[in-house]
Amino acid sequence: MQTFAVQIDEMLSFFEAEILDMDPSELARYYDALPELRKYEVTIREIVRLREHSLSKELEKLLASAGEMAQTPSNGFGMLSNADLRFPSVRDGEGKEVQLSNGRFVPVQMSGDRILRKNAFEAFYGRYSEFKNTWAALYDGQVKQQIFYAKARKYPSTFAAAVTKNNVDPAVCDNLIESVHRNMDKMHRYVRLRRRMLGVEELHMYDVYAPMVSDYDAGVTYEEAQEMVLAALRPLGEDYIEVVREAFRERWIDVPENEGKRSGAYSTGVYGVHPYMLLNWNGTLNDVFTLIHEMGHSMHTWYSSKNQTFLNSHYKIFVAEVASTTNEILLLEYLLGKAEDRKERAYLINHYLESFKGTLFRQTMFEEFERKTNEMAEKGIPLTADTLCETYIGLNREYFGEDMVSDPLIAYEWCRIPHFYYNFYVYQYATSFAASVAIAHRILSEGDRAAAPYLKFLKSGCTDDPVSLLKIAGVDLSTGRPVDEAIAVFGEAVSEMEKLAEMEEQ
Ligand SMILES: [Zn+2]
Repeated sequence: MQTFAVQIDEMLSFFEAEILDMDPSELARYYDALPELRKYEVTIREIVRLREHSLSKELEKLLASAGEMAQTPSNGFGMLSNADLRFPSVRDGEGKEVQLSNGRFVPVQMSGDRILRKNAFEAFYGRYSEFKNTWAALYDGQVKQQIFYAKARKYPSTFAAAVTKNNVDPAVCDNLIESVHRNMDKMHRYVRLRRRMLGVEELHMYDVYAPMVSDYDAGVTYEEAQEMVLAALRPLGEDYIEVVREAFRERWIDVPENEGKRSGAYSTGVYGVHPYMLLNWNGTLNDVFTLIHEMGHSMHTWYSSKNQTFLNSHYKIFVAEVASTTNEILLLEYLLGKAEDRKERAYLINHYLESFKGTLFRQTMFEEFERKTNEMAEKGIPLTADTLCETYIGLNREYFGEDMVSDPLIAYEWCRIPHFYYNFYVYQYATSFAASVAIAHRILSEGDRAAAPYLKFLKSGCTDDPVSLLKIAGVDLSTGRPVDEAIAVFGEAVSEMEKLAEMEEQ
C-alpha cells in the first residue's frame, strides 16, 4: 500500500507546481466558472499561501535532491543513540546490578530507590558526556540544515520558517515562553514541595521523576473503565456520549495485550468508515487515562470526517492533541470530584502536577533551548559542546529554581532528546496542553455554553489556521491568557498538594 501511495504522489506532483504557476485572478475565475471547485479551496489556499517561499522548478528540484543528505544529522543521532551507544550496569540500593539502556533510564529514574537513581543518573549522563563533541556536531548539523532551508526559502529565520509552514502566528510561541516565565514562581513552589514530600535535605536532578506519593491503584476492569469514561465525558453532551457508546459497542477498539501486538496505544481514522483504536489494556488507572486520551483523538477524527470533505477533514498537528488532553483533564476533574480518600486525592493531584511539569514546563524549556541555539547559530556563534551545555544548564537552573541542585551532568540532557531534530515541534505539546486545560475548565464551569463551541471546533477539520480554529473553542493563543489560566490551575493543584502533605506530616 505504501509503494502504491508513493506512486500516486508522484503522479500528482504536477498539481502543486501548476497551481503555483497560475495567476491568482485566473484561479478566482475558475472558481466562478466551476463552483464544484470550491471543495478544493482549502487545499489550494494552503498551496498558494506559501507561494512567496517556493522557488523555480530547477531550484525546487535541487532542494528536493538535497533532502536525503539533509537527514544525516538526524540519522546520525538516531544511530548513535539507538544502536552504537552502550550503557553500563549500575548497583541499586541492595547492591544488585541493574543494566541501563536508553529505554530504561526514565523508568529507573521513577524508582523509589534513591541510590539506584543517583548511580543511574551519573552513569547514564556520564556515558553521554563521553561523546559530547559528536552530539554537538550532530546538533550543529541539524541547525545548519534548518538555516540552509530557511535561507533558500527566503524566511528571516529558522523559527519563522517552521511556524509559517504550520500556519501558526509566531506570537503564540513568544506568549508561551513569556507566560511560563511570568509564572515560574509556581514551578519553583512545586520543586520545593517535591523536596519536602521526598523528605530530602538536597533535591537533585535524579529526584525529578521519583514518586511523590505512594501508589494508589485499586485496579479497574475494562467494563468499569467504560463507565468512568462515559461519566467523565458527560459534560460534552448527549451527542458526543452516543458516539463513544457506539465506539465501545461496535468494537472500534483492540483492547487486550497480545503476543506480537504493537506496544503503546493509538487512534487512527479511516474516512468514510470510523476511527480505530489500539490499546494494551492492563487494568490500571493509567490505562483509563490512555483510553480516554485515544477516544479524544477518535472523536476529533469522527466529527471532522463526518462534517468535512476528505481533504478538509485532516486536522493539523498543532490542534491534534487538544481533544485527547481535554478528555484526560475531564477524567481527572471527574475523579477528583468524587475522591474522598486522601491517598486517592494525592495520587490524582500528583498525576496532574506531573502532566504540567512534563508537558507545559519541560516542553517550553525545550522550545527555549531550540530558539536560543538557533539564534546563536544564525548570529554566527558556534554551537559547540560547551556553548550547548552552558545554554542548557542555564535554562535548567531557571526552570527548577533554588530548591534544586542543578547537578553538572544535567548539562548533557540536550544530547539525548530526539525532538531537537524535529525542527521546532515541541512547543505544540505545551500550547495544546494549555488550550486543553482552558477548554476543560470552561466546559466544567459553563456547561453547554462552552461545550457547543468546542464540538464545533472538533467538526472543523483543517478549514482554517490552527489558532483561528481554537478561537472557535474559546481559546485565544495569540494572547498569553490561556497559558496564564492553565498555570493558575497548576498553582491551585500545588496548593492542595501542600495541604495534603501537611496533613500527612501531622
Ligand atoms: Zn495523543
